[in-house]
Amino acid sequence: MNNPVDKLYNTKNLTDDELRELITSDNAETAETLRICADSVRQKHYGKKVFLRGLIEISSFCRNDCLYCGIRCSNKSAERFRLTEDKIIGCAESGYKKGFRTFVLQGGEDNYYTDERMCRIITQIKEKCPDCAVTLSLGERTPESYKLMKQAGADRYLLRHESADNGLYQKLHPPKMILDKRINCLYNLKEEGYQVGAGFMVGAPFQTVDNIIADLRFLQNLNPHMVGIGPFVPHRATPFSGFAGGTVELTVRLLGIIRLMLPEVLLPATTALGTISPNGRILGLQTGCNVVMPNISPSDSRKKYELYNNKSTEELSNIIADIERAGYEVSMERGDCIR
Ligand code: SAH
Repeated sequence: MNNPVDKLYNTKNLTDDELRELITSDNAETAETLRICADSVRQKHYGKKVFLRGLIEISSFCRNDCLYCGIRCSNKSAERFRLTEDKIIGCAESGYKKGFRTFVLQGGEDNYYTDERMCRIITQIKEKCPDCAVTLSLGERTPESYKLMKQAGADRYLLRHESADNGLYQKLHPPKMILDKRINCLYNLKEEGYQVGAGFMVGAPFQTVDNIIADLRFLQNLNPHMVGIGPFVPHRATPFSGFAGGTVELTVRLLGIIRLMLPEVLLPATTALGTISPNGRILGLQTGCNVVMPNISPSDSRKKYELYNNKSTEELSNIIADIERAGYEVSMERGDCIR
């Protein structure tokens, strides 16, 4: 078999050389074959469904200092907010009335959200919104914290590994952030019984094709339930303000590859992909993505959760229109991973 897409489709794997060829190929036919294969695998497992998740951005306070991120603690110009317990629960309840059955609570690493507070929030959401799934995306916490929040009812956890290459990880993060710690968190979360999501930014400063291959190998080993990847988008008040962002083409290429490597994975067409191009989200959906995470945060705090510039502020109705225009069906089910 000399076509890497066919081989990936049939065996879910490629050698490093074949991956390099597929990632860097500028052949339009290869891109189209990858799209068709990824779409067929996604349809085999999930049909035409696109699961919606209500994203609630709970805090823009962060003790961390990731060099790419607009809410890093060194960014003195960032506007900070945090939602109260009642506000978060209220947000979930109004999302629930609109039909959402998954809520993603995402935020900076904010000490305000102690285990006790988080457990109260999770317990109440589960009480007030029966049959919903609660997904957390709150960065690195202790194994004990992950355990307590799981016991309180959390179902899933998103923690992008950001880069599986130690050299690149160090270039993207301050010295006190350690790749091994982050990876341990992911394995802890898995052990606690969470459905786990990992991932990375595409086109991050200094990222090479070999770094991307290392990320794909890491994902194959971890075998997560969800994978979040999106283009790097520069933020004006970070050390990476002068770097170019990731491209739609490379992001979509990698989404297709990930769908073929991990056929049953839940794969969002991310806000960042929708931000850099008006048809980014549609292209993602047509190349293996089966999740979209509309922002249901209160509108006054939404603009303060600025991880990168020009963050897409699309209304739910437009997102739904995009999904239908791409030929898929909106699903408000919990949408658990089928494995
Ligand atoms: N504090 C949580 C949530 C982080 S925000 C955590 O540590 O997991 C969610 C994701 O946004 C990050 O994992 C990162 O990959 C992405 N992100 C941050 N800054 C970005 C930027 N400038 N461009 C694109 N994605 C970015």
